[in-house]
Amino acid sequence: MKRYFALDCRGEYHAEIDPESQKAAVRSWACSKCHRLLPGRKLKEVRLAHRAMGSQPFMVSFALSVGFFRRSFLEVVCAGEIDRHFEWANVLGPNGKPYRDWIIAVGHHRIIVRGSDLPSHSYCPQCGTLRYLTRGGFFLYPEPPPNIDVFDETPGRLVVTHPVLQRVQQHKWPKLTVFELGVAPKPLDKLGILPLRRLPSNAND
Ligand SMILES: [Zn+2]
Repeated sequence: MKRYFALDCRGEYHAEIDPESQKAAVRSWACSKCHRLLPGRKLKEVRLAHRAMGSQPFMVSFALSVGFFRRSFLEVVCAGEIDRHFEWANVLGPNGKPYRDWIIAVGHHRIIVRGSDLPSHSYCPQCGTLRYLTRGGFFLYPEPPPNIDVFDETPGRLVVTHPVLQRVQQHKWPKLTVFELGVAPKPLDKLGILPLRRLPSNAND
């Protein structure tokens, strides 16, 4: 049986996006409600309002629902093939120059880490993307597709297989937390199979 691990990052910094850059993202690729990458759109570079800081391998932003990753970290996760697992774009500093080691990225394969402790879920009324919240008792359900070894969960969490974890652990990454996820034989949150997207009944609401 394949083993799966969550890679969480609890750095003390988050990416603060320049407000104009955030508005431009919503005009071009981000959902105006949940700020995720819209289906069929291409990520475009974003500009930070302040210098990226901290030593963590990835971080989140409150303004856009994408991961901000160190390229060097994703290179290790993806064994040098970032394009195979992620859509990505440059991150610009406040001076408009791209960072060498920071990119925004959204995984080609999304997964939901589910939990039995206070689970709740909803769908974005604008783009239909699943939002799932839980406090603990984490598990995967159903069994992830066997040919994929890097999954994107939320900004701030990846799910990877054991060989990927071993690759990641050959380096020291500050603030990175790892925990194993079991595949549950049945959904312990009693929510059945959850589609990752549900088309809004009325997108103009
Ligand atoms: Zn949305």
